[in-house]
Amino acid sequence: MELLIVEDERSLAEDIRAYLEGPDVRCRIAGTVREAMDQLLGMSFDCIILDLGLPDGNGLEVLRALKGQERTDGVVIVSAKDALEDRLEGLRIGADDYIVKPFHLAELAVRVQATVRRARFGGRDLLRFDELVIDLPALRAEVNGAPVSLTPTEFRLLRLLTASKDRVLPRAVIAEHLTEDHADDERAIELVYAHMKNLKRKLAEAGAADRIHTVYGIGYRFTTKA
Ligand code: CA
Repeated sequence: MELLIVEDERSLAEDIRAYLEGPDVRCRIAGTVREAMDQLLGMSFDCIILDLGLPDGNGLEVLRALKGQERTDGVVIVSAKDALEDRLEGLRIGADDYIVKPFHLAELAVRVQATVRRARFGGRDLLRFDELVIDLPALRAEVNGAPVSLTPTEFRLLRLLTASKDRVLPRAVIAEHLTEDHADDERAIELVYAHMKNLKRKLAEAGAADRIHTVYGIGYRFTTKA
């Protein structure tokens, strides 16, 4: 998978690259509209992470150029909180999703993966972890071929965990993802705990391996190797 990170804050671009890059994910970085255009001449990307506020222009110019060439690279817009108009314009032009700064890298990972899947498989693919199969568009999980009855919140939790597989996911990030709010308080943490407990129980009862591990005082980790 090839990703292009268009971001002029070099340290943020490097953080994104460090988080998303892996054995099957390669990231390139462009710091300006012009550099992004140059990268796009040479190749297509599974997803472009596109900052709008760039030193030599607006990231929307890159998006317009892409859509003008009828390219199918996925695009996730990264924007400042106050850039609502640009965000809406981006979605109108054809961006797949957006994320508002500041964001957690786990949240960006979920959006990038969802965008790539929609583009590549028309949203019909499955995530497989041996006995556990997750059907993202259908919002269904199966263990050894039998459906597991998850609530929408439990499903979102599972999706978030798998998007950051083999990494520790902080509780505060999970709380924020579930409540779509900056939820750092004790009640939000308790909510995460309750949903996580139910999710783990349901997966265990269905016969799934124990993949969700508590990292004490920090959060949780979904391990691909059971
Ligand atoms: Ca910027």
